[in-house]
Amino acid sequence: MMIKNKKIAIVGGGPGGLTLARLLQLKGANVKVYERDIDKDVRIQGGALDLHTESGLAALTRAGLMDEFRARYRPGAEKMRVMDNQAKIYIDQHAEKDTETFGDKHHRPEIDRGPLRDILLGSLDPGTVVWDSHILSVEPVQDSWKLTFQNGNTDTADIVIGADGANSKIRAVVTDIKPFWTGITMVEGSIKDAEKTAPTIHKLLKGGKIFAFGNEKTLIVSSKGDGSFGFTTACKTDEYWHKESGIDFKDNKQVLAWFKAEFSEWGSVWHELFAGENTLFIPRPQYCMPLDQKWETRSNITLLGDAAHWMPPFAGEGVNMAMLDALELSEALTDPAFADIQTAIASYEKGMLKRFSKIGQGTLFNTEWMHQPDALDDMLTMFSTNIVKQARFVSKMFIHVTLVPFVRKVAGLSPKQTVLT
Ligand SMILES: Cc1cc2nc3c(=O)[nH]c(=O)nc-3n(C[C@H](O)[C@H](O)[C@H](O)COP(=O)(O)OP(=O)(O)OC[C@H]3O[C@@H](n4cnc5c(N)ncnc54)[C@H](O)[C@@H]3O)c2cc1C
Repeated sequence: MMIKNKKIAIVGGGPGGLTLARLLQLKGANVKVYERDIDKDVRIQGGALDLHTESGLAALTRAGLMDEFRARYRPGAEKMRVMDNQAKIYIDQHAEKDTETFGDKHHRPEIDRGPLRDILLGSLDPGTVVWDSHILSVEPVQDSWKLTFQNGNTDTADIVIGADGANSKIRAVVTDIKPFWTGITMVEGSIKDAEKTAPTIHKLLKGGKIFAFGNEKTLIVSSKGDGSFGFTTACKTDEYWHKESGIDFKDNKQVLAWFKAEFSEWGSVWHELFAGENTLFIPRPQYCMPLDQKWETRSNITLLGDAAHWMPPFAGEGVNMAMLDALELSEALTDPAFADIQTAIASYEKGMLKRFSKIGQGTLFNTEWMHQPDALDDMLTMFSTNIVKQARFVSKMFIHVTLVPFVRKVAGLSPKQTVLT
């Protein structure tokens, strides 16, 4: 095996990095995961994730972890209520009968990030994850790499995989291609004892998800198994609004005042989301890697997940792509058909970048239509049985996803440009 006797360093213990570690260990590889968190409990894990049959679940299946997944996923958590900005319900999946099950193409069971992380961590050999390892740099030393961490430690590795998320340190060693600004900022909030702090929304949520649309803005709420919930607002802003607005996101009163002003057309029912003293807010400006990004494959370093193809979360693909990257990279690195590690990485990167180009287009399409005036109508059309309306929506999507990039390409324009103006 090509990677026999090689030390593999995976930088970042998110879903992508941990899935890769598990898959490589199953093949007998020598793997360490370097994670900046000081331990597994230090950070509140964000909202629930829906895993897709062909990607996230395919990776878990190959990792032999489907029994653990079935024991910890949350049936019903994927059920969605689509609302307008006054919380009037237009679509209610709670009222529908479940038709999908494991193995179905469109089955998207939800699991909270914490349990998903626990499942992956629990599957690794003891000591695989080196906590408190915030990487500062990787430097080539002959044919291998020297890793330097913020805590003063150093280590070496023969192969490095950057799985360190959107602001990856490893990415700069692989490529100088930067993400582009999409025109949208999300404000993420997480509420601990949701039933007490936000009782009305808690009732409306019913243990599932709320998607609310109005005035070119969105509000998405998703329940978590521990009684807490996460939510995100999203609206069009300037790129550096989160710094230049002067809002202190640690001061909930300031965040509520901003929401009341920015979402002034929205009903007061949403205000309780911002009322709790313990609610944590994080502004998240949304970027996307260029859809046509390509780089020259290095001999023993590569990227996966957000480090490779950061994109907005409006298609629910980020985690699924990270886990599918892990599956494809683990297979390439252990495939005897490849002459050497560089050829294996080249094959993985080619497939991964091609896949991202397509998924990224769909994601940018969603980002744009969810923040335009007809968003709610379009959403209802997607779910409606009205064939004429659906055909109109599909043709709109076709124009955006296929024709616009084609015209850009013919005109020699890069997709590196603001999506929303
Ligand atoms: C608000 C929000 C909602 C989202 N909703 C969804 C959704 O519903 N569905 C979906 O599929 N995706 C969603 N995403 C996207 C999804 O979270 C990411 O695409 C996914 O987590 C990427 O996985 P990853 O393993 O590549 O990176 P990450 O999950 O970002 O993991 C990276 C890891 O690397 C560590 N790290 C970072 N820097 C360093 C360093 N210098 N040294 C060492 N370690 C480091 C981090 O601590 C982290 O553990 C959402 C994202 C956000 C922000």
